[in-house]
This record gives sequence, C-alpha cells and structure tokens, in this order.
Amino acid sequence: MKRQILLLVSLAALIIFLAVQAYMIQSIWKQKEEILLMRYKSLSREALSLLLAKKKQNGFEKGMEITDKFAYYLIEEELPKLDTKDDSASLGKLALKEINSILSKNEMLTPFFKSYISKYGYDNKVASILTISKLKLLTPEGNLTLIDTLYAKPAKNLIVVNTFTEEHNNFYIEFHYLIDLTHKNEMVFKEAFFTFILIIGSILIVFFVFGLTWRNLMEERRLSELKSDFINNMTHELKTPLATITVAGRTLEKDQVMNDRDKVLETAQMIGKQSVHLNQLINTILEVSFLERTEFELEKSKVMLDELIHQVVSSFLTSCDGCAIVNENYNTTGTTVSIDIVYFTTMINNLLTNAVKYCDKDPVISLTTTEDDCNFEVKITDNGVGISREHLDHVFEKFYRVPHGNIHNNKGLGLGLYYVKRIAAAHGGDVHVSSKPGQGTTFRIRIPK
Ligand code: ADP
Repeated sequence: MKRQILLLVSLAALIIFLAVQAYMIQSIWKQKEEILLMRYKSLSREALSLLLAKKKQNGFEKGMEITDKFAYYLIEEELPKLDTKDDSASLGKLALKEINSILSKNEMLTPFFKSYISKYGYDNKVASILTISKLKLLTPEGNLTLIDTLYAKPAKNLIVVNTFTEEHNNFYIEFHYLIDLTHKNEMVFKEAFFTFILIIGSILIVFFVFGLTWRNLMEERRLSELKSDFINNMTHELKTPLATITVAGRTLEKDQVMNDRDKVLETAQMIGKQSVHLNQLINTILEVSFLERTEFELEKSKVMLDELIHQVVSSFLTSCDGCAIVNENYNTTGTTVSIDIVYFTTMINNLLTNAVKYCDKDPVISLTTTEDDCNFEVKITDNGVGISREHLDHVFEKFYRVPHGNIHNNKGLGLGLYYVKRIAAAHGGDVHVSSKPGQGTTFRIRIPK
C-alpha cells in the first residue's frame, strides 16, 4: 500500500514536472520570438535612417516616378470612361494592385536592409510587404479619392517599419512598409536550441531515474512475493510429512494395529519414508542457505563422466521405483573430468526429478553427454509440460516457481534449478534451458574439462 502511494505521488510529481517543463519551453519560445521581432524592427529602422541620412533617399524614388506616370495615364485615359460609382471602385482596385506591384518591384529599401542585417551577422531571410491605405488622383478638376482605409494593426509576426506619405504631380499616396520573417520559427529554434537541449536532457534524466526506481520497486515487490510464496510452500512441504508421521504414530498406538505385524511394518515403513523426505527437504534448505552464506568450495576429484552419470541415473530410478524411461546416450566414453561428485550428483538428480515431476504423461527422458576440446556437456530432455517463454528467463532464480495448475505433485520450494545454476557456475560452467510448452524441456549443462 505504502509502495503504491509512493508510486502515485512520484507519478504525480513527474506529471507536474513535465507540465512545468512544457510551460518553460513555451515561455522561452515566446520570449525569444519577441526578442527576435524587436531586433529586426530596430535593425530595419536603423537601416532606413541610414539610407535617408546617407543618400537622402528612402528607396522608393524609382517606384514613385513610374507610379506618377501610371497616375497620369489613369487621369488621361481611364477617368473619362467612368460613368458610375461602381466604375470608380473598380478603378480603385486596379490602381491599388498595379501601384503595389510597381512599388514592390522597384523599391531599394529591402535589398539595402538585407545587406545591412547580414553585416551584423543575422539571418537575412526576410520578405517585405507594402500596404497602401490612401490613394488620390490629383486631376486638374480636383482630387479624386480612390482608396481611403483605416490602417488595421498587422499580424503579430509582421514588423511595421515605417509609414510613407508622398505627393507627386498626379497622385497622393500613404503606404506602410512591413517586413515578414519568413523563417521565424527556424530562427527562434536556433536561438533557443541550447536551452531546449538542457530542458529535454533534464526531462530524459528524470525519466531515466524514475524508470530505474520503478524497476527496482517492482523487482523488490516480486522478490517479496517470491519469499512469501517460498515460506508458504516450505510450511506446506514440511507439514505434510509431519502430519503423516503423527497420524502413523497414533495408528501404532492402537491395540488392533499392534497385534497385526504386517500393519506395524507398513506403518513403520511409511514413517521411515516420510522421515527421509523430511530430511531431504531440510537438507535442501540448509544447503541453499549454506551456498548463500559461504563461498562455494568444491572438493573436486577425477571421475569417469559416463560412469558417474550412469550411477546417478540408476540410483534415481531405483529411488523412484522406475518412474521414468531414461534413454542414455554417452559420447564421452573414457573421458575423465574433475568435479565435486556430491554437488554434481545433486545437480543431475534435481534435473531428473524435475523431468518426472513436471510431466503429465509417462516420463521419457533422454540424457546425452558430449564433449569438445575444452568443455563437456550434459543434455537432459524430457517430454513434460514445458515452460512458457515468460517464465523461461526466471526459472533459475531463487524461489521462482511456475504455476502449474494441472500437474499433481508439483510441490517444491523453487530452489532446485537455482541450485543447479550455482553448482554449474561453481564448476566454471553454465546451464541453459530451452522449452516448448506442451512438448518438453531441455537443460544443457556445460562445464570446462
Ligand atoms: P521446484 O521444482 O521446487 O518448484 P525448481 O527450481 O526445481 O523448483 O524449478 C523451478 C520451476 O521451473 C518449477 O516450478 C517448474 O515450474 C519449472 N521447471 C523446472 N524443471 C522443469 C521441467 N523439466 N519441465 C517443466 N517445468 C520445469
């Protein structure tokens, strides 16, 4: 419960952290954008003042000259043709379009501005926009207003550099010169790049640490579950033979049983068998805790590999009343190896026991030994229930047990394979498992010679 609360709190903290970071990115972006617009605004105004001061020009001189001629043409050719108000409106539209294009094509302010900003090392990918708000034709009969609009505030990313008002022989004009940063987002991104990298880096680090903590917590939870499963299993495993022994003891006290020699013998044998089982269980637990506490010390001796394994198989079959068919296939005839006989025997025994225990039909086991220049290998394949992929990586872990609902007699402490792995490693080797659920499992123990 505590762990869950901790996880929920850290998850909430993580979400808040992300929201803060997102807010920061947004504000930094806005700030950089404003700084950029301000910079280009002041640069463009500086450029214009410089042009005016140095050349006494504003860059629109040529455009104005051509526009004046165009206005003369309008007065002379087009005005006399006008009949209605509508006609004058469409003349206004035509004039607006034409004059805008004349001024844009012939203006010198933008190229001057571009070279000016390049001189300062800034990006000069800018475009200019002209907006005409007033236009009058100056005819001998009087002024004719073609356009007269209120200038609206332009879009946020456009910079208003200046408003020009000029009067020439044939026309009067008021227009606004604006610049548009065509690559504004790219420019802002470049400027804020380092800050963004820092923010993203910190997000990644926090996620990484959170992931690690989460994984550790999950691992801790899994281990504590394994431990409590182990305690339950162990209690169950110890209680069953003890209960049998208790009941058998009471049976022996009964008069009619005491007088029946066969019954006494049978009960005594049962007590003996359960005591052996109890003893084995306690030994397994003690051995594993011994393995945990001390460094492994092997008492190695030289043995003929085939003979030793054959003996282990024979005594296994005797102890389980021929519970399985074991097909032995030795390809290491005459090979002597240096191993700890007691541990090695226990290791093979554990694998044989499991092959029988986790089998839902008549157990058939195939045992093969092979060798190369450096190693020898013992391969034990069974026809049992197999182990599914999700459990395969865990079966060698201490206390790990696969839930087998449909197998009887699947009691255990989850220590057998852990023990196998430790012993193989103590011999400098390793153990691998492969399995096909429903078909069987193969264990391979490889040990250097
Ligand atoms: P235990 O047998 O006491 O549960 P082990 O460490 O020997 O513990 O085995 C761990 C788990 O691996 C077992 O619970 C079982 O599910 C699975 N297992 C081991 N050997 C086999 C096998 N030959 N076939 C199928 N499952 C196996």
